[in-house]
Amino acid sequence: MRLSMTKRVFLTGHPVGHSVSPAFQQAALDYYSLDVRYEAIDVDAPSLSQVIMGLRDSDVMGANVTVPHKEATVAFLDELTEEARLIGAVNTIQNREGTLIGHNTDAPGFLKALKEESGFDAEGKTVVVLGAGGAARAVVVALASAGVKSLVVANRTLERAEALVDCLRSILPSAEAVALDSGALGQLAARSQLIVNCTSVGMSGGTGQGETPIRTDLIPARALVCDLVYNPQETPLMRAATKAEALVLGGLPMLVYQGGIAFELWTGKEAPIKVMFEAAEKALRARQPVG
Ligand code: NAP
Repeated sequence: MRLSMTKRVFLTGHPVGHSVSPAFQQAALDYYSLDVRYEAIDVDAPSLSQVIMGLRDSDVMGANVTVPHKEATVAFLDELTEEARLIGAVNTIQNREGTLIGHNTDAPGFLKALKEESGFDAEGKTVVVLGAGGAARAVVVALASAGVKSLVVANRTLERAEALVDCLRSILPSAEAVALDSGALGQLAARSQLIVNCTSVGMSGGTGQGETPIRTDLIPARALVCDLVYNPQETPLMRAATKAEALVLGGLPMLVYQGGIAFELWTGKEAPIKVMFEAAEKALRARQPVG
């Protein structure tokens, strides 16, 4: 007789209660009737190394890592993909027989969302990225590796944009940094084919709730405006972009595609993307305030 053991995948972050990953990852595992539980665990910084150590157990397939541990986790892993090393952060860990491998699926998840949902190929394009935090790092590395022609990072704190552009020197020497309130941003935005909001401005419950990260008259018609913010699903920036006759893409597809790539790393099975989208949308709807 063979005893089966329920396997586990964890989400580590602080806090984790708001995350929709448990809903869509469990839906994907259940789609294949896999005996695997996806569990969110709230981990504070001092406990992080011990929790990561526990991921080596034979019943653990891996983990997702979210804010604020994506950078700190790197130090506790055995191997990193080239992408995760360039970004300096991991969002997915694979347990390969006790060896922990760190991946960053935000970067390919972002490119996949652009391609699958908007038919957008970043190669040769002129791009403005708003923000210079963790999400922006993944996005700029993805765009640089996809072969963009030019890339500008605009951030509220100019020094952070400059530091990010410096890290890109080896793969995209022409990248530029500007302040989000710089007069130069108007011209740069006007000739861009893609604008990506990687700031938290517009996020429900955040300090910039109801706001747009740039002046709405700077949005060029016909460009693709991608907002990484996924709650609300239609952000003030997306509404303004639609009004300016630009194309729009919200943050939910990137969230689901990065999760789909992680799912495939853990299970070796094709991610049931439709099932994951439906579960993520349902979880987000359940979070909307009623009335
Ligand atoms: P982060 O590391 O904390 O960075 C936040 C960024 O937002 C910084 O560039 C910060 O500028 C800027 N910012 C914050 N408040 C601002 C304001 N009032 N005005 C102008 N700029 C402001 O956060 P993150 O992890 O990069 O996440 C950023 C957003 O992306 C979040 O909304 C997150 O939910 C979303 N995200 C989505 C996905 C997805 O799959 N769709 C994945 C990752 C993240 P300073 O440097 O000046 O502080």
